[in-house]
Amino acid sequence: MLAVPTLIDLTLFPYWWLQLVAFGFGVIIGSFLNVYIYRFHTGKSLSGNSHCLSCGASLRWFELFPLFSYLILRGRCRTCGSRIPCRYFLVELATGVLFVLSLTLSLNIFIVILFWFIFSVLMVITVYDLYHFIIPDRLTIILTFSVLVLIGYEYLLLPQDWEVLTFRFLSALFGSAFLLFLWVISKGKWLGFGDVKLAFPLGLLVGTPFVFSFVVLSFWIGAVISLIVIGWQKLKRGQSRLHFAGRALTMKSAVPFAPFLVASGLVIIFTKLNVLELFSFF
Ligand SMILES: [Zn+2]
Repeated sequence: MLAVPTLIDLTLFPYWWLQLVAFGFGVIIGSFLNVYIYRFHTGKSLSGNSHCLSCGASLRWFELFPLFSYLILRGRCRTCGSRIPCRYFLVELATGVLFVLSLTLSLNIFIVILFWFIFSVLMVITVYDLYHFIIPDRLTIILTFSVLVLIGYEYLLLPQDWEVLTFRFLSALFGSAFLLFLWVISKGKWLGFGDVKLAFPLGLLVGTPFVFSFVVLSFWIGAVISLIVIGWQKLKRGQSRLHFAGRALTMKSAVPFAPFLVASGLVIIFTKLNVLELFSFF
């Protein structure tokens, strides 16, 4: 058996200290992810000063602090007063929280960093799909590769039978194939082909016993969020009564499904939820 050195023994540090460092690092990475998401789409280079997207005014040093600058500026540009999208704040906060939660998965520094990387990629995929209704293949490939590195490293730490690994790949493929089936019969109306591809690395990540729960939960989350969005849109149109029956329930052709897959995957990873157990109450 290969001896895998642990670079830093995180158990030597006080836990709250680790959480603080993880959160601080997470919000900083989150602010870089915001820049990456914006520039990935517009094709602008990643170098250069940060500036207001409306008036082009360069940001001063005190406006570059993640989370705090958004709160201090109350979501508006100091120069022109135009709104800064709240996703900047939310991405930073969510990344910080995910980085802290990663510590519950492992205290092996290499595994923690891999999870941080994986969650960062998932964050970009989620926001990108929300705004552009597409999941860039490049991101899915990076995600798949990093999940494979994680599985490989875990294998070095704790060698398993090849059947276990094979079954892990097969169940991820099965989850992906189920979405492919839905993609075919709905002619791409319920989800996109990018979601079919994304389900594979996510299925690999959650692991064999949880692929079923992962797929089912993504549809539950999707249904609940869709109902809320549909209801909210109806309220905005000034209709006092909500019509949840019939046509109102049908999903539009372009529903960004990746956020539901990612949300489901995250819930499963952190809670080890088995949806079948939910029915054991009845
Ligand atoms: Zn401005």
